[in-house]
Amino acid sequence: MTATTTDRIFNFSAGPCTLPLEVLQQAADELPNYQNNGASLIEMSHRSKQVVSVFEEATQGVRDVLCVPDDMHILFIGGGATFQFGMIPMNLLPNGKSADYIHSGAWSKKAIADAKAVGNVNLLFDGSDSNFTTLPDATSIKASDDAAYLHVCSNETIGGVQFTDYPDVDVPIVADMSSEITSRPIDYDKFGLIYAGAQKNIGPAGCALVLIKQEIVDQCPGNLINYLNYANHVKGASMLNTPPVFQVYMIKLVMDWLKAKGGVAWAQQQAETRSKTLYDSVERNNGFYKCPVDAKYRSKMNVVFTTPNADLDAAFVKEADAQGMSGLKGHRSVGGCRASIYNAMPIEGAEALASFMDAFAAKNG
Ligand SMILES: *Cc1c(COP(=O)(O)O)cnc(C)c1O
Repeated sequence: MTATTTDRIFNFSAGPCTLPLEVLQQAADELPNYQNNGASLIEMSHRSKQVVSVFEEATQGVRDVLCVPDDMHILFIGGGATFQFGMIPMNLLPNGKSADYIHSGAWSKKAIADAKAVGNVNLLFDGSDSNFTTLPDATSIKASDDAAYLHVCSNETIGGVQFTDYPDVDVPIVADMSSEITSRPIDYDKFGLIYAGAQKNIGPAGCALVLIKQEIVDQCPGNLINYLNYANHVKGASMLNTPPVFQVYMIKLVMDWLKAKGGVAWAQQQAETRSKTLYDSVERNNGFYKCPVDAKYRSKMNVVFTTPNADLDAAFVKEADAQGMSGLKGHRSVGGCRASIYNAMPIEGAEALASFMDAFAAKNG
């Protein structure tokens, strides 16, 4: 049952979302009888040499692709990005200190809510004033005197705003990079901890990739329950308990795929091309489509736009779907349309969507 590209839709869903066909095919081929062991990986002990190798290769793959420096640990932790919203303040926000947060949209809002359950939070920027269509100028951000860290969501998946530059602050930046990880290089000097739910750019849901500096691990309090403590995940090499083996295996395959394609440099180039293709159609049909996002901060991963009214938004989504382009409905909290164009979305997908956008505007404008 080999699938080909022509069997597949262009999947513009925000996450879970499209993954490389080559990766899915390799996983399908290898699943029942992994490397002639007579069993699949997900049926084997996580202490077996096969599974341990997969974890080592996935870790090395992430290190190579993302050029992760030696002083940063690479962890795979169950619970997705959402679990990190709480785990971060529990480990990084000691009594007597506070945490700085930038409120740039729906995902940072959730991170802030969990941090508030743990300790004091300062909002350095509140995007609700501008309906989350813009971001603060990086040079305007100063950390609070008692801040332990500054949290940012590098790409707000729902609102479609993406940081270009990060502030220069004297506290470590903690970043939720769920919906952009591996799509552009990272300046590690600024970051103490980076995390990403796997299901946008690197694999299946249910697992977060966490990059954490040793100096942050050193500060984790000793009185946390076992699973909540980063230091224990480091000690256990991401096998503190029975780990999400399938997710990590898929991440390994995605890293292999990315390397073969040309790595982050390739992904970044692709993201530029795909996003430009779509934003150009919005601009070309200006008046019909509107992108609410400040041009400086338009996301290269999630392109949000509206047609003249909600009925046309719905017709757009339905007609595109009928033509093999799915998942274009905007998030229920904001409406409109959204095209998520992660690494595995071929350029042809963006081109097909842009042609459809032009035709739809001509017909309904
Ligand atoms: C999807 C997403 C999350 C949530 O990820 P889960 O793995 O479902 O918890 C968090 N932050 C951002 C930016 C996301 O895009």
